[in-house]
Amino acid sequence: MKPKIAVVGSTNMDLIVPCVHIPRPGETVIAKGGQESPGGKGANQAVGAARAGGDVQFLTRVGDDGFGKLLLANLQQEGVSPDSILITPGVSSGLAIVMVEDSGENAIAVVPGANGCVTAEDVESHAEVIRSADILLLQLELTLEPVLAAIRIARDARVRIVVDPAPVPASFPEELLQVDVVCPNQGEASAILGAEVRTIQDARQAAWQLVRRGAKQAIITLGADGAVICDGNNVDFIAPFEVQAIDTTAAGDAFAAAFAVSWGEGKSFQEATRFGCAAGALAASRSGAQNAMPTRAEIDARLLEFVS
Ligand code: ADP
Repeated sequence: MKPKIAVVGSTNMDLIVPCVHIPRPGETVIAKGGQESPGGKGANQAVGAARAGGDVQFLTRVGDDGFGKLLLANLQQEGVSPDSILITPGVSSGLAIVMVEDSGENAIAVVPGANGCVTAEDVESHAEVIRSADILLLQLELTLEPVLAAIRIARDARVRIVVDPAPVPASFPEELLQVDVVCPNQGEASAILGAEVRTIQDARQAAWQLVRRGAKQAIITLGADGAVICDGNNVDFIAPFEVQAIDTTAAGDAFAAAFAVSWGEGKSFQEATRFGCAAGALAASRSGAQNAMPTRAEIDARLLEFVS
């Protein structure tokens, strides 16, 4: 049976606009193209979890605009249940306008749109989605109230909670760490702990600190260097899977989604982290966000190559 993964989070349409250079204030530049690409950390993780083999319920909001229809259709096509995807009339869907210039530098403007309309009441009225799940998977692109409401419902129902604390809010509530697993990357761990996490040794200490601050288990993802995990007793290093990195956008989303599925299937914390690392590496080897999420067959094949 597929593990039930409840995701509460954001949905965006990313508008990718390549330009020779990013316009300065007052300047108009003719872009070299324009592409719509479904994104938003919540939706990326919902799609990542569905492709990795999860039975996914996703609580989010989109607007009643054209993008909302496209985003909803895309999620359904990916096998994400539409039952808790809510539509907010008169509000735009979440948008991210991503200008990328020839030097590789980018400038991004995010319109929260309907994501800003997800409330604690939405979460409470869909509490059953969380209560009936094996794993609740959260990130931080919504306001904190619905995220904290989801944590409380899952805690009361003894549903395991995985928090990908990204982006890190200016004021970080400790309750976000009182969960089963937190999985920041190095930058996010640095922001939460107020100390630079650069080396693997730093990450080992950071993982311990997150556990000391309340997490039952912690994972620090280290991009091309793999990950460090702490299960409350030991700290371990999980080696990376080698890939030709093309675009690391959403590698962390692929990681968190695949980790949640594998852990929901009953794999050990360490095995689930390796599964997540394989998924993250595959996502880094492709461009895009949701489009880059690997399938179960691809992740399994990558794991087998590593063993042989
Ligand atoms: P984020 O996208 O949140 O910054 P990371 O870049 O740390 O997250 O990526 C998450 C996981 O994906 C890493 O722990 C690693 O296992 C895998 N990964 C990411 N980038 C690469 C890469 N270039 N090579 C191999 N694995 C990668």
